[in-house]
Amino acid sequence: MNGSAMYKLGCGLYVLSAKDENKDNACIINTAIQVTSSPNRIAVTVNKNNYTHQMIKNTGVFNISVISEKADFSLFKRFGFSSGLNTDKLEGFDGRLRGLNGVIYVTENTNAYISGKVEREIDLGTHTMFIADVTDGEVLSETPTATYDYYHKNIKEKPPVNEKKKGYRCKICGYVYEGDELPADFVCPICKHGAEDFEKI
Ligand code: FE
Repeated sequence: MNGSAMYKLGCGLYVLSAKDENKDNACIINTAIQVTSSPNRIAVTVNKNNYTHQMIKNTGVFNISVISEKADFSLFKRFGFSSGLNTDKLEGFDGRLRGLNGVIYVTENTNAYISGKVEREIDLGTHTMFIADVTDGEVLSETPTATYDYYHKNIKEKPPVNEKKKGYRCKICGYVYEGDELPADFVCPICKHGAEDFEKI
């Protein structure tokens, strides 16, 4: 199996945001799709380890902000590669507004946002799929949506040219595991992707 085949799927990248009584949080997903148009419903799939997952479980509401090709790696670092459990991912971040559902959405380097109210959930083991009624949404710019393919080619940080490290590099975020053998159950400490997303360097 060539794992790179998965990157050819034409999925976009989204900031998935939610809240609890006193905190806003968000993470990055590539798993949002419209599942029916009448009623208008979307599905998002989120890793159970994400703080955002717990918030959606508790409140049943979320927003997705569609990341555009204007976005740079800092957006992914902020929302994708840290946990909201022990940090405030929104600290010092002005590129956001609050939707009618009380949840923030990202206005900077995105081209639309869509609000969801959970209608049902499907337990997928490591992840939960939330199927939601669309309750609101707006177009924010006409910049094209950043696909996963576009992210890999244009947004992801390139490894330094004279890097001397040996081992395995995470294809998602660039983290390098220094060692001769990458354990099969290894999980990237930065982006939480598994051993299948590493390549030997
Ligand atoms: Fe990684």
